[in-house]
Amino acid sequence: MRITIVGAGLGGLTAAWELVKSGHDVAVLEARDRVGGRTWSARLPDGTVTERGGEYVFPREFAARRLAAELELPIVSHGVPYARRSLRGIRPSAAAVEATMAAAAGTLARMRADGLERISVAEVFRTAVGERFEADPAYRRLVISLAADPAQASAVAVLRGQPALTSEHLEDGGRIWGGNQRIALELARRLGERVRLESPVAAVERDASSATVTLVDGSLERADAVVVAVPLPILRTLHLGFELPATQREALDHRFMGVAAKLGVPVASTGDDPAVQSPDGFWWSWRSMGADGEHRVPALSHFASTTPTLAALGADATGRAETWAAAALALRPGTVASGEPLLTTWADDPWTRGAYSAPTLDWREEDELAFERAAGRVAFAGEHTASAQTISGAVASGYRAARAIEVELARA
Ligand SMILES: Cc1cc2nc3c(=O)[nH]c(=O)nc-3n(C[C@H](O)[C@H](O)[C@H](O)COP(=O)(O)OP(=O)(O)OC[C@H]3O[C@@H](n4cnc5c(N)ncnc54)[C@H](O)[C@@H]3O)c2cc1C
Repeated sequence: MRITIVGAGLGGLTAAWELVKSGHDVAVLEARDRVGGRTWSARLPDGTVTERGGEYVFPREFAARRLAAELELPIVSHGVPYARRSLRGIRPSAAAVEATMAAAAGTLARMRADGLERISVAEVFRTAVGERFEADPAYRRLVISLAADPAQASAVAVLRGQPALTSEHLEDGGRIWGGNQRIALELARRLGERVRLESPVAAVERDASSATVTLVDGSLERADAVVVAVPLPILRTLHLGFELPATQREALDHRFMGVAAKLGVPVASTGDDPAVQSPDGFWWSWRSMGADGEHRVPALSHFASTTPTLAALGADATGRAETWAAAALALRPGTVASGEPLLTTWADDPWTRGAYSAPTLDWREEDELAFERAAGRVAFAGEHTASAQTISGAVASGYRAARAIEVELARA
């Protein structure tokens, strides 16, 4: 069968690869001049690999680990205590972080038992931790990763993923050796000429016997089925010439796009602290372990999120790396930069328009199942259709979309 995939991020490429292995004739249409989407690796001037998008892969993220193993791409540890970042010179203990998260989970359970609904992340922590909750390191860590307004995000959805925060998760995030984008590059190499770059799609239609994709240049691709794997804001602008099932429409309505930016700074020297969280705004800094397991790489990485923080750091459409780089060096006294910083903003990226999606206060558990089945001959993939807004979530959504298409084609 002929199947068209829209979007060559990890969701789309994983679906494409699974369908090729099942013997289908696949074409992948990608708007950009590169594959990988929000997984994008680059080299700083001294050759150190830095991630401009998705970076940490945790021990229990099985979908990404399964795919990396299949592609023979090793995952190496950052050696960074991801969820125990120093704040004002103090690194919280694992027990303290876990106690705060357990208190938040317990508070949420009581609020729900009292019949409260539409409970936000901010509300739960205010109740669990008290009025100074915004200074709590575990809360700040959670909001940075959430990349969205904590007063607008569903606590039930966000805290659901947190039991996985065991000690190993607190400490041991990994990444693909040589850069996470290698997963996308290796999939694209295996897919060969099936991947067509600079081919943005404008519309997707389908009827009972076929599906059609219209490119922005007006050309048409006819297929037996389509997988749409573009980011949520782009999906909202695509012309879909058919009604989505109500479950899928609502699941999409229950997500909004967060914003985040990354900054890589080559450094000549720095203190040894592997993970530091800023007390001002929602951002943090880390220095990954090098290949020898003893020395850290000669670069700092930074992640910032939420609109006010990005504006304060100049990490928005104005794109001024210097302001954030100066704040980053001030966060680590004694650090000396050794080259130009590399800033990556995502909110103004025309093919993403944000960082990744977050659950609105209306989110419901059933939303997670909405994309298990295809909408006729069209299935959806991408982090916004997954249970985790991560590299692994995107990969899992690709596996799921490929299965959904096969079920649909077998039925049709
Ligand atoms: C700053 C940042 C930091 C992150 N950190 C982490 C992390 O530490 N760990 C982690 O696991 N995850 C992290 N993530 C999330 C992770 O990167 C994403 O969840 C994942 O890469 C999304 O994959 P995707 O396939 O859903 O979307 P994408 O990678 O965005 O792929 C979608 C593709 O569709 C293409 N496209 C868009 N419009 C069209 C169109 N009209 N026609 C054709 N193609 C189109 C895009 O160009 C893109 O290539 C981070 C993300 C960001 C932005």
